[in-house]
Amino acid sequence: MDKIIAANWKMNMTSVQTHKFFREFKKKDSKKRINKIVIVCPPFTSLPAAAKDTKDERIKLGSQNMHFEKKGAFTGEISAEMLEEYSVEFVIVGHSERRKYFKESSKIVNKKLLSALKNSMVPILCIGENEKERKKGNAGKVVEKQLRECLAKVPEGKMQKIIIAYEPIWAIGTGKNAEPKDAQEMHAEIRSIISRIFGKDTAKKVFIIYGGSVKPENAGELGRMKDINGFLVGGASLDAGSFIKIIDNA
Ligand code: PEP
Repeated sequence: MDKIIAANWKMNMTSVQTHKFFREFKKKDSKKRINKIVIVCPPFTSLPAAAKDTKDERIKLGSQNMHFEKKGAFTGEISAEMLEEYSVEFVIVGHSERRKYFKESSKIVNKKLLSALKNSMVPILCIGENEKERKKGNAGKVVEKQLRECLAKVPEGKMQKIIIAYEPIWAIGTGKNAEPKDAQEMHAEIRSIISRIFGKDTAKKVFIIYGGSVKPENAGELGRMKDINGFLVGGASLDAGSFIKIIDNA
């Protein structure tokens, strides 16, 4: 199975900074990469710059959000069709920051995910428990509920077109990554939940990537875990050199 390494730039990087990032990325990239799919998700306003810079590179583009409707009176929103103009193939849905600051429910996340699939985009579905839920021993239950709600009405055949990102909220931007064996345990649990919903064959093939304080120093050990198929990287993806090291170590 390939490894997927996706960068979530969040609300960082102007167009000028985006050009600078890709100039540096191209200079430092080893080009020997095999079996690795690299995705960068810049903010909307930097998508044109990123689309230009990644044209001939082996880097794919994603967006950090998308509205589920095709078009209309949704001030401030962006549709799938608009993203397609910039060759955006992936879209992050259900990130914990969107759930927290923009009150996105799993029902809304489900609508976005279904709309992405309908528009031939690959959703990167984020799920994960908070610290309190983990301490209570409820992490498994929490992710099962999120998966069942966010994947409602997804036909079995479409599961291969979805990337699951396990992102424990307590590990995001805190510098405190999940221990590799704990992350592996959760990824195995997520695979078994998918197996219960969609069957064993589908579960075996689904990409489950890990996010939460991934750095060049921990990418190797985390990446060697059986059920970890790659990473969603926030902070450490803003620097081309450190992102390349994560890709190489994954
Ligand atoms: C994220 O926000 O998706 C993320 C994983 O952030 P960080 O790598 O900074 O923890």
